Amino acid sequence: MIDLHLEGLTHRYGSVVALDRLTLDIGGGAVTALLGPSGCGKTTALKLIAGLLSPTSGRVRFGGRDVTDVPADRRGAVMVFQDHRLFPYLSAGDNVAFGLRMRGVPRRERRREAEAVLDRVGLHGLASRRPAELSGGQRQRVALARALILEPEVLLLDEPLANLDAHLRDGMRELILDVQRERELTTVVVTHDQEEAVVLAEDIALLFDGRLHQHGAPRTFFERPATERTARFFGSTNLVPGHRHGEVVDTPLGRLHVPDGAPGGPEVWVTVRPERLTVADPRAGQQVQGRVTSSSFLGTRSRAVVEVAGIRLTVDVADDALVDVGPGTALTLGLPAEALWTVPRERREGTPTSPDHEPATPGWGDDARTAADPDVEVRS
Ligand code: ATP
Repeated sequence: MIDLHLEGLTHRYGSVVALDRLTLDIGGGAVTALLGPSGCGKTTALKLIAGLLSPTSGRVRFGGRDVTDVPADRRGAVMVFQDHRLFPYLSAGDNVAFGLRMRGVPRRERRREAEAVLDRVGLHGLASRRPAELSGGQRQRVALARALILEPEVLLLDEPLANLDAHLRDGMRELILDVQRERELTTVVVTHDQEEAVVLAEDIALLFDGRLHQHGAPRTFFERPATERTARFFGSTNLVPGHRHGEVVDTPLGRLHVPDGAPGGPEVWVTVRPERLTVADPRAGQQVQGRVTSSSFLGTRSRAVVEVAGIRLTVDVADDALVDVGPGTALTLGLPAEALWTVPRERREGTPTSPDHEPATPGWGDDARTAADPDVEVRS
């Protein structure tokens, strides 16, 4: 198991700064996701780790070894590209065996090994098919097999679950995690999809504009976002504008007790995940009353949108209890203090109160009311 250390990595393509002083420690034998929107520099970072690009400045270390100037084929890292990059005129078996051929491994041996790796990725009996004769999901597995046959210490995956339907995604995810554990591979996954990052990785590095924005366990991104931008990127959290004084935040919902929050000024968003709000539960402590505007069934849970003092709060429960709650129904929501968190409010026009919904009160944002609304009852 080998740790990776990226130290002040910058990469420029001409005048474009694709990656800006990225410093990141990546744990050995674990899966780390480089997450961020398109163009934030994720693939550039992966190629710098692979040795397919040289940094403009900064160092890459594998364990204690500085590999910045070591060629890609001597690093012990293999990258699997999103578009697979298989040779179209070679069979799946020959594609997988290709790296061993380059290493001078005799034909019989590389065939045997290629078949074993193809078996491992669930492609038994398909060695003689050409890429055009395989499905997209099967081609993805061939690309993974082609990397695994080289027995890398570091596996680099570019959007490994993209373009796969839900069923294939699950299978591919299990396969990646199984081989990663079996071989104790240090794995870095690039993705723009927060769900993909969460299901694959133990550790997430969130990049915006070529810079590291937040780094930590997946859960912290949902429950303890460092900034409004992180909270919005992770989506579907409730955001309520407010003004913080110590552990108290004055909001349109009333005065809330919010013990914890990210550092910053007094103008904040109170964030709370839909599944952490409670419905008609007196143990929740502070409560607000509102009216349902819509409800829906989400397969494994149900959801209601509840308007309170012009703010729409989304609440999810783990059963179908909210499915038949019609518009206009009065609902009491609990806001347990430990489920609340604040992030500093960024200054920008027309910010919606929740990423999922149009603002119930247009213009909430910079000039949001900061005092408790006297018309709203908050009980605790
Ligand atoms: P995506 O998710 O869309 O693949 P990304 O986060 O992986 O995006 P990169 O591919 O690393 O982002 O690109 C980062 C920035 O560098 C982008 O602004 C991109 O346009 C630019 N860029 C990438 N490759 C080149 C190149 N070969 N020449 C010039 N600019 C490039």
